[in-house]
Amino acid sequence: TTVTGALDKGELAFTPVEDIGGIVSGLHSSFASGVQHSLASRKEQLRAMLRGLREEKRALLDAIYHDIHKPQAESEVTEFSSVEYEIGLFLDNIDAWSRAECLSAGLQQPVMLLSRTEVRREPLGTVLIIGAWNFPLRLALLPVVGAVAAGNCVVLKPSELSSHSAAAVERAVTKYMDPAVIRVVQGGAEQGIELLRQKFDHFFYTGGAAVGRSVARAAADCLAGVTLELGGKTPAIVHADVPDLGPVATRIMWSKLSNAGQVCVSVDHLLVHRSLKDKLLPLLAEVATSMYGESPKLSSDYGRIVNARHWQRLMGVLGATRGTRFAITDDEPDEGDRYIPPVIIDNVKPDDSLMSEELFGPILPVIVYDTLDEAVALVNAGPQPLALYVFAGSAAAEHVLSHTRSGCAVVNDTMLNVASHVAPFGGVGNSGVGNYTGRHSLETFTHSRYVLKRPLWFPAPGVDTVRMPPYSAPAN
Ligand code: NAD
Repeated sequence: TTVTGALDKGELAFTPVEDIGGIVSGLHSSFASGVQHSLASRKEQLRAMLRGLREEKRALLDAIYHDIHKPQAESEVTEFSSVEYEIGLFLDNIDAWSRAECLSAGLQQPVMLLSRTEVRREPLGTVLIIGAWNFPLRLALLPVVGAVAAGNCVVLKPSELSSHSAAAVERAVTKYMDPAVIRVVQGGAEQGIELLRQKFDHFFYTGGAAVGRSVARAAADCLAGVTLELGGKTPAIVHADVPDLGPVATRIMWSKLSNAGQVCVSVDHLLVHRSLKDKLLPLLAEVATSMYGESPKLSSDYGRIVNARHWQRLMGVLGATRGTRFAITDDEPDEGDRYIPPVIIDNVKPDDSLMSEELFGPILPVIVYDTLDEAVALVNAGPQPLALYVFAGSAAAEHVLSHTRSGCAVVNDTMLNVASHVAPFGGVGNSGVGNYTGRHSLETFTHSRYVLKRPLWFPAPGVDTVRMPPYSAPAN
């Protein structure tokens, strides 16, 4: 049964809250029955997922465009292909990655003689995956690949804010994959809260920190593991010794304006050395125009803010700034279209309205610094960001890296770190807990079970006494 939740755009069939307990307990039972036990059945599920993805490709890309006006060329690479690649990676490697690892270390200890020790990667059970709206395909399905390959059953809740995508993802999953392995729960906070009341063996959440805390509390109640993929104010530092500002401007604006700045690893704000600011700002504006034209509103490549609440939030912080506007376009914001033009705000102070929260929009605040340590202190004054970008000579870049903390960091570029399926992707502190993609997903969604096998006949009775009392010869 389903009920319909009316949204500001699109309609999504929400899962009735009273059905959620049954969905979760059904998956616990099917996990216990061994539905995901064999590697062959997991691979079958991955192949079914791949088929669903490919057959529903058009509908998925259209849905993402409907939700956030993300150009299909971007969705194709950053959402579709990345999930497709991850499935292929697991199909190619799951046999090798799942093999028990035999340990020789420790066997030198006399007590371990003739033992066999191994670490087996075992599934956790039934896991919850909650996705966010800004990459509605990728953030829902990328963790599902690792979770299913690892042998778990999965409850997936896509974000209701990207409602068309949530419906398309549900179709691509339920039409092709086994409902004994994965179920999709649709809905918003009400369904999310009910899911967090259930018992899961791992919680995987992508989104803002406030809900992230509730997810961590729910995991604590279950004594289960938790992965939190959160966000933060990712800075880009441009230091005085950077040799060429051309690529700096392009890479910063690509990051700031992709998906209208609604990317967890978007440049949030710019920290620029005083000597470069007057040269860099016009270049940034030029790059924005070369990518999206004089009126980005007319460009099919420029995104829209996901909903009215986020549009108003961004207009609120923009209205309260004490910085000065550095013009890029004459376009005006348009609430009906959820459009906010790209805007650079110069002369921003660290206590400005634009600096209090992650912006998640096409607004670039610019703060000037004089010494590298000042830039480092500005980074360290806030919570640890998800990413940190530094454009500088290698000594200065290394100085920044070794004096700051962040989920990930890129020298002389932006955002490309998310393209890797080899590196662990995740935050630290306020930007997240744990990581995933590729082999790291397997680690996230499995337990390393240490198995020690001992011969019963060795040491012989009477010899195996060292570890057992009495520890000293009885006094006569
Ligand atoms: P969102 O509003 O889509 O919420 C995320 C999910 O939480 C949704 O599925 C939503 O339905 C659910 N939810 C909402 N209230 C809930 C509740 N009370 N209990 C349980 N679930 C609930 O996304 P958002 O929070 O606006 O996401 C934006 C944030 O996510 C930004 O901070 C961004 O940086 C971060 N983000 C991080 C990553 C990453 O990979 N680290 C990726 C994308 C976004």
